Amino acid sequence: MPLLEITDMTVAYGRIEALHGVTLHVDDGELVTLIGANGAGKTTTMRAVSGIRPLSSGSIVFDGQDITRMKAHVRVAEGIVQAPEGRGVFAGMTVMENLEMGCYARTFASRAEHDATVDRVFELFPRLAERRTQLGGTMSGGEQQMLAIGRALMARPRVLLLDEPSMGLAPMIIQQIFRIVSEINAQGTTVLLVEQNAQQALSRSDRAYVLETGSVVRTGPGKELLADPAIKDAYLGVA
Ligand code: ATP
Repeated sequence: MPLLEITDMTVAYGRIEALHGVTLHVDDGELVTLIGANGAGKTTTMRAVSGIRPLSSGSIVFDGQDITRMKAHVRVAEGIVQAPEGRGVFAGMTVMENLEMGCYARTFASRAEHDATVDRVFELFPRLAERRTQLGGTMSGGEQQMLAIGRALMARPRVLLLDEPSMGLAPMIIQQIFRIVSEINAQGTTVLLVEQNAQQALSRSDRAYVLETGSVVRTGPGKELLADPAIKDAYLGVA
């Protein structure tokens, strides 16, 4: 049974329909990527999953439960957690305070569980451990992105939603972010990723979906799409 199952999902902004019957699923433990050109509907799909945008029709089932009309904050408590963009960190709060904000919607069974989650984030991002008292707003772009992902991990996601974590970052930092996303997934967290950086994303994904003007036009294992000449042409910038 898939952990996350979207069926025939239609989402509109006013009278403009952005998604026209999208069907996709993410199995427990998978890393699944959505790729597509600007305006294809990737961000809208993520917003619908996190509960920020309502569906006009179709359904979203998470772990066997219909969540189509569930409020966003309840979804977080259920384990559907979207990392904000790096720029979404709280600039006037320290790294540690930012991380603490990540778990407000999730109650820990014990202090030990809380501490273990902080430790896990610091193991993944040693940089954040070094800078725990630094203000979020004074960190570099890459560090802010790490903090945004770390903050999401504090909510102990069962599925982590990442919308273009590599956006605007230098190539070396992008590598690092991708490596960490793979590691988070290898540690057991299911990941749904949106990326413009299709090469990197596909090579690290179990499966991927290609969105085009609001519809899924291709799906398959990441490496299979990566090797497909039509995909290369359209999304990888090589002939
Ligand atoms: P990008 O990579 O540029 O973010 P995307 O694949 O994430 O693209 P979406 O942002 O989901 O695409 O946009 C899908 C469609 O919905 C586009 O036609 C876009 O213009 C439209 N759209 C997105 N956000 C809004 C909004 N707030 N109001 C009206 N239309 C919107």
